Amino acid sequence: MDSRIPLALIEAPPVDRWQRALTDLRISVVDRCNFRCPYCLPEDQYPDHHQFLDRNARLSFEEIERLACVFAGLGVRKIRLTGGEPLLRRELPLLVRWLKRIPGIADIALTTNGMLLPRQARELREAGLDRITLSLDSLDPVVYRQLSGNRGEIGEAFAAIAAAEAEGFGALKLNTVVMRDINEAGVLDLVAHFRGTPHVLRFIEYMDVGTLNGWQRGRVVPSAELRARIGARWPLQALGRANSHDVAERWSFVDGGGEIGFISSVSTPFCGDCTRARLSADGKLYTCLFASEGFDLRALLRGGADDATIAATIAAHWQQRDDRYSERRAELRARGNESRVEMFAIGG
Ligand code: SAM
Ligand code: SF4
Ligand code: SF4
Repeated sequence: MDSRIPLALIEAPPVDRWQRALTDLRISVVDRCNFRCPYCLPEDQYPDHHQFLDRNARLSFEEIERLACVFAGLGVRKIRLTGGEPLLRRELPLLVRWLKRIPGIADIALTTNGMLLPRQARELREAGLDRITLSLDSLDPVVYRQLSGNRGEIGEAFAAIAAAEAEGFGALKLNTVVMRDINEAGVLDLVAHFRGTPHVLRFIEYMDVGTLNGWQRGRVVPSAELRARIGARWPLQALGRANSHDVAERWSFVDGGGEIGFISSVSTPFCGDCTRARLSADGKLYTCLFASEGFDLRALLRGGADDATIAATIAAHWQQRDDRYSERRAELRARGNESRVEMFAIGG
C-alpha cells in the first residue's frame, strides 16, 4: 500500500497540564503472550484458555499506520512496538516497514521476550527496525523459567541475543525486573556476564501495574540498594539520562566495562518528564501506564472520522492530561484506587 502523508507537522504540538509534550508512542500490537511472567500476566489469573482480543477487535496494520501518521503530525518522533508479546503478531516486519516510512518518525524500537526473535530478526532488520529491547530476568535457568511462568528457557534468550547481534542490531537493551528474594541474587551474575559487551542491562523496579500481579512493596528492590551492591564490586559513575525524557538513569563502570541503567519508577518517579502515550492492541489511547481507562480511537477510526478530527481529538485528550501516578502512588493507593489497565494490554 502507499505511504500516507501525515498532517503537516503542526507549529505548536500539544502539551499537557504539566507542559509535557507528546513525543513517544508505544504501540501494543497484540495482548497475547507466550510467557506468563508473574509480575505481568500471572498464570493463575490468565490460564491458557483466557479470552484475549480476537482478530477483529485488534487494530489492523492499516489502522495502526494511520494513527501513527496522525501521532507523527502531533509531534511523536519515537515509536516502540510492544505487547503482550509483539512477535506473536503475524507479519510484524510489514508493519515496521510501513511505520518506517512515516515522515517525522526517527526511531522504531521493539520490546520482546525474544523467544520468536531468531526466526524474525533478519526480516525485522530489513524492514528498518532500529533497536531491540529484550527482557531477561535471570541467567539462572531455573529462575529464568520460573519468571517466564514455566514457558521460557534461558538458552532461547541467548539464541535471541545471538540472532539480534548477527543481524547487526548492535547494542541491545536488556530489561531485568528485579524482585526481592526471587531474582535479586542473580543481579551480579547478569552484570558480570554483560560487562564488557555493547549490551546495556537495565534494572527495573517491580511496579504495581495492573491489578492482578499481587504487587507488594516489600518485593521492590530500590535501585539505590542495587546500585550500591553492584558498585561495591565494580565502581560506577553517574551518566544521568541520555535525554530528559528517557526512563533509565545511566551509570558507567569506572574501569571502562560499559554501562548499565536503572528504571526506578517506584523509588524515584520521573513523571515530570513523561512524554509517552500508549496505544493498546484494540486501539485505546492511554496517557499513563497506570491509567484506569483509555480513550477509544478504534471507534473514531471505524466510525469514519477523518485524520484532522482524530488529530484534534488526540491533541485535546493530551492537553487535558494530568497523569502523575508514580509521584502520587502512596496517596492514590491509600485511596484504594484499584482500577488500572493491565501491563500486557499496553506493553510497559
Ligand atoms: N512481552 C514483551 C517483553 O516482555 O519484553 C513486551 C511487553 S512487556 C509488558 C514490556 C516490559 O514490561 C518488559 O520488559 C517487562 O519486563 C516489563 N514489565 C512487565 N510487568 C512489569 C512490572 N510489574 N514491573 C516492572 N516491569 C514490568
Ligand atoms: Fe509476556 Fe512480556 Fe508480560 Fe512477560 S512481561 S508476560 S513476556 S507481556
Ligand atoms: Fe508517565 Fe504515568 Fe509513569 Fe508517571 S506514572 S512516568 S505519568 S506513565
